[in-house]
Amino acid sequence: MNKNSLKKIFPDDRISFRAEDLMAVSTDASGIYGPCYGVVWPEGEKELQRLVLWARDQRTAVDLVPRGAGTGLAGGAVPRGSLVVDLSRMTRVLEVNPSDETIRVQGGCVLDTLNQHLSRSHLHLPVIPGSHAACTVGGMAATNAAGFRAIHFGRMEDYVIDALVVDGNAQIRTLHGESTQQWIGSEGTLGIILEVTLRVRPRENSSTTQKIKLPSIEDVCAFIPEIRQIEGLVALELLDPACSAAMGWEDKYHLLVERAASSEKDMDKTEALKTWKARSELYAVLASHGLHIIEDPFVPFEGLASALGWLKEHRIPVFGHMGVGILHPCFEPGQEQRVDDLMRVIMEIGGKPAGEHGVGVRKREYLSLKELTAHRLRKDRYDPHRIFNRDKIWKESAA
Ligand SMILES: Cc1cc2nc3c(=O)[nH]c(=O)nc-3n(C[C@H](O)[C@H](O)[C@H](O)COP(=O)(O)OP(=O)(O)OC[C@H]3O[C@@H](n4cnc5c(N)ncnc54)[C@H](O)[C@@H]3O)c2cc1C
Repeated sequence: MNKNSLKKIFPDDRISFRAEDLMAVSTDASGIYGPCYGVVWPEGEKELQRLVLWARDQRTAVDLVPRGAGTGLAGGAVPRGSLVVDLSRMTRVLEVNPSDETIRVQGGCVLDTLNQHLSRSHLHLPVIPGSHAACTVGGMAATNAAGFRAIHFGRMEDYVIDALVVDGNAQIRTLHGESTQQWIGSEGTLGIILEVTLRVRPRENSSTTQKIKLPSIEDVCAFIPEIRQIEGLVALELLDPACSAAMGWEDKYHLLVERAASSEKDMDKTEALKTWKARSELYAVLASHGLHIIEDPFVPFEGLASALGWLKEHRIPVFGHMGVGILHPCFEPGQEQRVDDLMRVIMEIGGKPAGEHGVGVRKREYLSLKELTAHRLRKDRYDPHRIFNRDKIWKESAA
């Protein structure tokens, strides 16, 4: 591969082939590792256009892997002999329009930094994944991220209006409408999201929180439909006995309910803040006990009792966003067969293995022919030379 021509695109301080830099980007939060050829830190669209042309000249020798913060849990940003394109130098908030509640921001901007910036205008991007302190807007758009409050606020596809991208044809495109939606959730397989225009919302400070203890799966399933009817429901989180214990609560099932209106059973504000902070740190606590592998299946409500029953039987700790039907079972490394067994159960009950973290390399084998065909059509249009994120979402050889 021609390193010298690559060095003509990027100055010395924004390109590296050093082992320590390659190691830093050879994995993401999935814990999957892959070999890395090099890493570049672009600052603008012209450089990226030249980079795509360089990659095209290398034929199939190396692919380009876009990287935000590497908090992805499906292995989407893990290189496979690739050149990693790290977007941490493209972080600017370019425009804030308080009157029409829209903003324009570069793909590498970290969510918390963006929301801090927007707090001056009493606005925020309310899609808040647990990784909010690190994850980037481009990574969130590329994975169609959601979060605890998705039942109320939706997910990234509800906020991205337009996007500026560079695709595998080395074209800089401004995407609108349907074309934008094709890139939401495309996991860096079509090109790089350089900028997005986003809808944002005024901050709401008046929500309240209630914790409900339930002794059994039957009680959980009986209660959820009732709670889902509550007007102004903002979040509905489930914790099983093991996750409740990890939060320092009694080892029973619990539901955490956040809503816009108050009731007499609500926690006071300080306790509510403490509880949500603990909830957002739950995965880190479980991971510190060896439960590193977190999955994200979507489970239709009719299948919830079976899924929870299966997880209880196999002693797999689980929490989840019950407002939108996403469960987060947590596994130890080495339990991959058990993960596969669960995914088969999920598909039998009409669910989907990938609810919010993306497909990456972890969930490719569960995609339907229809989903693979739709992806292949998008790939043929935007990345016909297979320059971006090869073997993510689907394997070329399996097509
Ligand atoms: C503790 C923890 C909690 C989490 N909680 C949630 C949650 O509540 N909800 C949720 O949805 N996810 C959650 N996640 C998963 C993860 O944070 C999200 O998927 C997030 O959107 C990834 O953002 P990132 O910037 O880290 O992207 P990365 O991990 O760097 O990349 C993710 C994918 O997007 C692609 N990509 C990144 N940037 C771009 C770009 N600019 N253009 C094109 N492609 C790009 C990459 O190639 C890769 O395929 C959590 C992760 C952790 C570690």
